Amino acid sequence: MKNLAHELAALRARHQYRTRAVMEGPQGADVVIDGTHYLSFCSNDYLGLANHPRVVEAMRKGAADYGAGSGASHLVTGHQRPHHELETALAAFVRRPRALLFSTGYMANLGTVAALAGRGDRIHEDRLNHASLLDAGLLSGARLQRYPHGDVDALRQHLDADGAGNGLIITDAVFSMDGDVAPLPQLAAIARQHRLMLMVDDAHGMGVLGSTGRGTLEHCGLDMAAVPLLIGTLGKAFGTFGAFVAGEEDLIEFLIQRARPYIYTTALPAAIACATLAAVRLAEDEGWRRDHLRSLIARFREGAQHLGLNLLPSQTPIQPLVVGDSERALAMSAALRERGLYVRAIRPPTVPEGTARLRITLSAAHTEVEVDRLLAALDGVR
Ligand SMILES: *Cc1c(COP(=O)(O)O)cnc(C)c1O
Repeated sequence: MKNLAHELAALRARHQYRTRAVMEGPQGADVVIDGTHYLSFCSNDYLGLANHPRVVEAMRKGAADYGAGSGASHLVTGHQRPHHELETALAAFVRRPRALLFSTGYMANLGTVAALAGRGDRIHEDRLNHASLLDAGLLSGARLQRYPHGDVDALRQHLDADGAGNGLIITDAVFSMDGDVAPLPQLAAIARQHRLMLMVDDAHGMGVLGSTGRGTLEHCGLDMAAVPLLIGTLGKAFGTFGAFVAGEEDLIEFLIQRARPYIYTTALPAAIACATLAAVRLAEDEGWRRDHLRSLIARFREGAQHLGLNLLPSQTPIQPLVVGDSERALAMSAALRERGLYVRAIRPPTVPEGTARLRITLSAAHTEVEVDRLLAALDGVR
């Protein structure tokens, strides 16, 4: 039997022990932890919708109209009117024929990959893909090959060595810990050439990137022929909870038949779907949120460059400051906290060994003055 106390002590010694902060109130620029207010730069609430009055009110009304819980899986009696309407709205948002709602992005990825690939197939994934995509590849039973981050030449070599066969190429659109965008046009060309299906997880681009916020595919000018399989999550820019797969009619119908994490789980509460519908409308109608966010990103990068801070080449709201070792990352996070700022240190195994970092995320909920405060604090603690 595992000696748990021993393993926990080893994690502490490696500065990899994880703890949870208890938040006293809603998500936002200002958060309350242990009775103290902090200016927070570590949510994925990129558009500032998680505590938007219209979204909160939609959830309240959704609960009044549809109850607190769905009471069953989608295929039994859990698929309520708001779930169905949300699927239609999400499909329209990403301009695809159909969308299928999942309870979480983790489940959407597990379910989709394992439904579409199995023993005898192969899956190629970027080495820095989100854990849920890597787990999905393993769970599927297909042969999983990971190519070096963003390295389309290495992927081509793997494929040339492999010969023909059924399979998937899978990538994050925006890498969750680095903030950079995958080389999607090249990946689409490779997938087409090798007759593999390209699956893109746009958890961090959906609602944020593209001139109308439709995500990284809009940003790159790619359509459904180039990327047949698109995953979006709802707990980030849309500020609520859940996820969806979008694509052609047959893909969605197949997933309804075969995606086990879709079939064998309770449908998420309809009130969440109601809130998400409100959030999708806000994301569509209020383009100023993206404009403001883009200007904050530019302001932060310019200020950081001026200070000589070593940022990664990211144009997205994810602006990590790589510091190297975990102990130093924790110390910087603690020093920022003393100055009233909340920025989490992200350590291995979430990121590769030796690349512990402060994962700074910006949101439309921030002001320019707050970004300037962050820059001043970073200057003070490095
Ligand atoms: C957050 C995230 C997920 C998981 O989504 P949840 O809805 O939080 O389970 C999947 N993929 C990527 C790239 C993510 O960043």
